[in-house]
Amino acid sequence: MYRSHTCGELRSSDINNTVTLSGWVQKVRDKGFMIWIDLRDRYGITQLIFDEERTSSALINQAKTLGREFVIQIKGTVIERASKNPNIPTGDVEILVSELQILNEALLPPFTIEDETDGGEELRMKYRYLDIRRNPVRKNLIFRSKVSMAVRNYLSNEGFIEVETPYLIKSTPEGARDFVVPSRMNAGQFYALPQSPQTFKQLLMIGGMDKYFQIVKCFRDEDLRADRQPEFTQIDCEMAFVEQEDILTAFEGLTRHLLKEINGVEIHKFPRMTFDEAMQKYGNDKPDIRFGMEFGELNEVSQHKDFNIFNQAELVVGIAIPGGNSYSRKDIDKLVEWVKRPQIGALGMVYVRCNEDGSYKSSVDKFYDQDDLATWAAKTKAKSGDLICVLSGETNKVRPQLSALRMELAERLNLRDPKVFAPLWVVDFPLLEWDEDSERYHAMHHPFTSPKPGQLELLATNPGEVKANAYDLVLNGNEIGGGSIRIHDKKTQALLFGYLGFTPEEAKAQFGFLMNAFEYGAPPHGGIAFGLDRLVAILGGQETIRDFIAFPKNNSGRDVMIDAPATIDAMQLDELNLKLNLKS
Ligand code: ASP
Repeated sequence: MYRSHTCGELRSSDINNTVTLSGWVQKVRDKGFMIWIDLRDRYGITQLIFDEERTSSALINQAKTLGREFVIQIKGTVIERASKNPNIPTGDVEILVSELQILNEALLPPFTIEDETDGGEELRMKYRYLDIRRNPVRKNLIFRSKVSMAVRNYLSNEGFIEVETPYLIKSTPEGARDFVVPSRMNAGQFYALPQSPQTFKQLLMIGGMDKYFQIVKCFRDEDLRADRQPEFTQIDCEMAFVEQEDILTAFEGLTRHLLKEINGVEIHKFPRMTFDEAMQKYGNDKPDIRFGMEFGELNEVSQHKDFNIFNQAELVVGIAIPGGNSYSRKDIDKLVEWVKRPQIGALGMVYVRCNEDGSYKSSVDKFYDQDDLATWAAKTKAKSGDLICVLSGETNKVRPQLSALRMELAERLNLRDPKVFAPLWVVDFPLLEWDEDSERYHAMHHPFTSPKPGQLELLATNPGEVKANAYDLVLNGNEIGGGSIRIHDKKTQALLFGYLGFTPEEAKAQFGFLMNAFEYGAPPHGGIAFGLDRLVAILGGQETIRDFIAFPKNNSGRDVMIDAPATIDAMQLDELNLKLNLKS
């Protein structure tokens, strides 16, 4: 028996008992006549003591050979600690060791295994198994397990069945790029790893499973952005015989349950906002509504004077920064520089100081009088003491620019409190989205999403205007889930594939299996998928998803621990009927 107790378990009620513990040596404090060791495992730290008076010299000498991260087993008696440590649950006791066995020696770890470590990100990734011994990482993984468990329990109780779908599937041209896997037995043919189990979960509905979920890995070979992983986990769900309202109710229930179980936060009804409204008020389809600073559109009240920049703009729009009038001229110049950075791309920024005495001072006083500026203040809901920032230009450029400014300022003003949770549904997404590069419409969600009832006719005349039965669940400025009611008849699906630029032959080759299935009694159905990594990070009050993944890839998509991706040898390539043609 390696242990009678864990390192987090012993209390003063155990005093005088003989115990056996196993764990890692976190710290050795050697005072010569006395040695203390912190013994650590997943459950906590227990202090061991060896002293000249009570411990044999052979044992003391053995203890002196221990180094950090040695794996040891000890036997001893629980005694009361002379100087108690109120910071840890085992702090009232220590173990007077009578037997010590080294189970495994350890090299000196390349960074300290403590809450605050001296190891840089890359080094910690390379030795992730050591990083996982650290409290913050360990706690995050345990937290993730707790969230997954709560999801499974809740959904099973609601009658959902967890079904596994295949990882080796067929590549499709829609969406992101696929990771492909060569087939040895079928020369020249490839599987693809699923970007999501979308079509399979629809087939499960046709198969009569009625309520499906799966906590599942998905793979997307996209250009890497900060904190995006090429493989990530979804809570994937689908239901039959449902309308949008049924899905929103079901998954509002799940989210409410998680917020309560995990964070102790009770939220009754999640607000809903249409996509159009979100874009208009926040310039963003995943608005952070923990704070205000809503957009005020100013076209009407700014395009009647000689200020040509505004007169020529498609959209003039502003936000009020609470207390922003306290900014110095230099602070404001810095803000202007900030919005003009290439990442944001604004051409300039007009500002209005809302003075305490009710008067206004703007950077465009030449063109606008106090009455004009008062209407701007009314539209942006600015109060005295605020600063109004105004951007102008093409609507679909200005909105994201002002949204970025809003988020940046909220961050600086500490309005994005990780302990506050503000979920909302964004609904009525457009069905299609114009893509400048390919000069055609793409499905905004995916090609299986159904248009809103009665909107099918609009497809022919005004495709960009067609709204979909598609919805996102947004939490604190992050999209944590998204889904739609699906098309379930072959005719509509074929029509849509046509609008998306598929010839009937291509549609048949790619999605024939689904179209065929639609002909064998497909029930109306719809669903949603949550991004588990991000959800866990937000519930855990943190920003980076990497911190909640046991073995994440770095920002270049590499696993630096196992050193993947890697080349394979010529024989393997040969077997797979692949020829490497590296351009030098
Ligand atoms: N499969 C979709 C996605 O991964 C979600 C859904 O429509 O259920 O975004």
